Amino acid sequence: MTTIAHNLHHVRERIATACAAAGRRVDEVTLLAVSKTHPAEAVRAAHAAGQRAFGENYIQEAVAKMAALADLPLQWHCIGPIQSNKTRLVAEHFDWAHTIDRLKIAERLSAQRPAHLAPLNVCIQVNIDGGATKSGVPPHEAAALAQAVAALPGLRLRGVMTIPEIATDSVASQAVHTATRALFDQIRQTLPCMDTLSMGMSADLAPAIAAGSTLVRVGAAIFGPRPRPAAGG
Ligand SMILES: *Cc1c(COP(=O)(O)O)cnc(C)c1O
Repeated sequence: MTTIAHNLHHVRERIATACAAAGRRVDEVTLLAVSKTHPAEAVRAAHAAGQRAFGENYIQEAVAKMAALADLPLQWHCIGPIQSNKTRLVAEHFDWAHTIDRLKIAERLSAQRPAHLAPLNVCIQVNIDGGATKSGVPPHEAAALAQAVAALPGLRLRGVMTIPEIATDSVASQAVHTATRALFDQIRQTLPCMDTLSMGMSADLAPAIAAGSTLVRVGAAIFGPRPRPAAGG
């Protein structure tokens, strides 16, 4: 087994253990392999080990990787900030965008999604713990943004995404996960199309699953430490 296959196996075991502990079925949680800064060959190795969904933060880097891997049936998720001048690349190349935090970005993605592609799956990114430097809509604005996004053609509203601050303790971490789940449930009352709670990374995978996450985003635990500091793009 390659290191990546071995790591993937281990992460899937962690997800299965967390699901069992939470009384949830393992197929309720999707593993998104975050391949940012890692080469196309690493993605190819993960695909060979059964992984299909990949997350990328830097749009141009991702599009180059997609071209190198066009022979594989992969699902690509944009999980990085989306500037206005990058919406066209996202609309034309990705299957999902998790980081919608402004109506303007959603409107551009809607207008730019090619008609021959399936609708772009989107999540509203919520700044659940008020981190000052973070993107994401404040929780009290999330429902209104979700309503507006749900009405846009070319997009399919799937749920809510959050990136909590690195929690100082497990009680604080749990509070953040629980608050996100509550917000997700609240918005879902009027938008039952939402089926995705994108929450949990390498460090907080188990508590996120306990709180109801349906998609965990895991990078380093699969691909190893990132080879270089992240460049913009
Ligand atoms: C990089 C990243 C991840 C993965 O983080 P790891 O620590 O490598 O597991 C998950 N979500 C987002 C939004 C990221 O930017």
